[in-house]
Amino acid sequence: AHLARIEAVDEKVHAFLHVDREGALAQARAVDAKRAAGERLGPLAGVPLAMKDIFATEGVPTTVGSKILDGWLPPYDATVTRRLKEAGLVLLGKTNMDEFAMGSSTENSAFGPTGNPWDLTRVPGGSGGGSAASLASFQAALAIGTDTGGSIRQPAALTGTVGVKPTYGGVSRYGMVAFSSSLDQGGPCARTVLDAALLHEVMAGHDPLDSTSVDAPVPPVVEAARNGSVAGLRVGVVREFGGEGFQAGVTQRFAEAVELLRELGAEIVELSCPSFDKALAAYYLIAPSECSSNLARFDAMRYGLRVGDDGTRSAEEVTSLTREAGFGPEVKRRIMLGTYALSSGYYDAYYGSAQKARTMVARDFAAAFGQVDVVVSPTTPTTAFAIGERVDDPMAMYLADLCTIPVNLAGNAALSLPCGLAPEDGLPVGLQVIAPAMADDRLYRVGAAVE
Ligand code: GLN
Repeated sequence: AHLARIEAVDEKVHAFLHVDREGALAQARAVDAKRAAGERLGPLAGVPLAMKDIFATEGVPTTVGSKILDGWLPPYDATVTRRLKEAGLVLLGKTNMDEFAMGSSTENSAFGPTGNPWDLTRVPGGSGGGSAASLASFQAALAIGTDTGGSIRQPAALTGTVGVKPTYGGVSRYGMVAFSSSLDQGGPCARTVLDAALLHEVMAGHDPLDSTSVDAPVPPVVEAARNGSVAGLRVGVVREFGGEGFQAGVTQRFAEAVELLRELGAEIVELSCPSFDKALAAYYLIAPSECSSNLARFDAMRYGLRVGDDGTRSAEEVTSLTREAGFGPEVKRRIMLGTYALSSGYYDAYYGSAQKARTMVARDFAAAFGQVDVVVSPTTPTTAFAIGERVDDPMAMYLADLCTIPVNLAGNAALSLPCGLAPEDGLPVGLQVIAPAMADDRLYRVGAAVE
């Protein structure tokens, strides 16, 4: 049924970069056979899933939305891919994304944009717009994303779906193409809070292959999602997450969500986190710096595309021609920004200052969580914008992640869930719930209570 749905609507939505029809049917049949043989299966066995095209999938193309990986077939599975397969999930295919996860609209994909199923002339958010759109258009039952500065939560908000960025280190990064290693985190995308929790439980957990993986039990997310409640919970509302630049309908729906939390028995506490104003600037130095180092591996020798290798050119020239042809404008912009920020003489002024700001953001969160159990905010300042509207204005695009980026800088966990439609445009608004590191279960307890 899901393959038929993809066939019927994905020409318009363009959520998928690759559909693995035969592989999906084979996996589904294998689950059926196990069930017929009386084998005990997990709760998600046989459920069709879409995966952001940033996870290595053995024998299935993995492009990261970039021409530079054209023709590369991963010889191995990412840890997340392996865990999903072991749990019996059926991989339908790989979803569209901003190239190397750099973007907030999926327009930076080398393979064309994805439409928002609510209005195909608008963006589904990014970088994981394909995964979110596949859920909102009922092409997949569950999806996987990655979140470096908002790429799971922001698309969830713009498409009326649920997206979770787990605690940094909660989900293995092994086999997940690196953008900014100290910020990147894989996580679940779904249409309900409980669905997201079931997927979270399967994909999370310690992995010796990832040196930053947390060696601790996965927080009890499914139990929390089944027992939604906010009675007696202290909920923080941060002043810096609102005001100028926020769409009126977003502010209104957020205020209603806070009122609902109060009615359900939560204690609302107003807070100020003054360093959050520095988060966006710090992120746009740290993420490009790390990306400039991570993307050095795309040298035309190891993976995918190779341009100009006709026997007359040096290796350096081939690398250069390949990068020129294979990387898109936003990726080039970030590599240049990153190498500049890291270069001798500028390192302390840019990268060093950004790291200090990052510490201040983490301290603001630590102080907030001394007073409250969770923090809530709108996920994004606006609803889905029109395709093309912000492509020539990187700053306007970067502002889409104003409320999500501080969470990545601090390594905390956060969830976005729908909280109604904005009256002025009828488009979905997202509510963000933020919890301290390794308290991911709180996200689900709150999410399930207000869903
Ligand atoms: N939009 C942000 C960026 O372009 C975040 C992307 C992400 O989370 N991968 O960097």
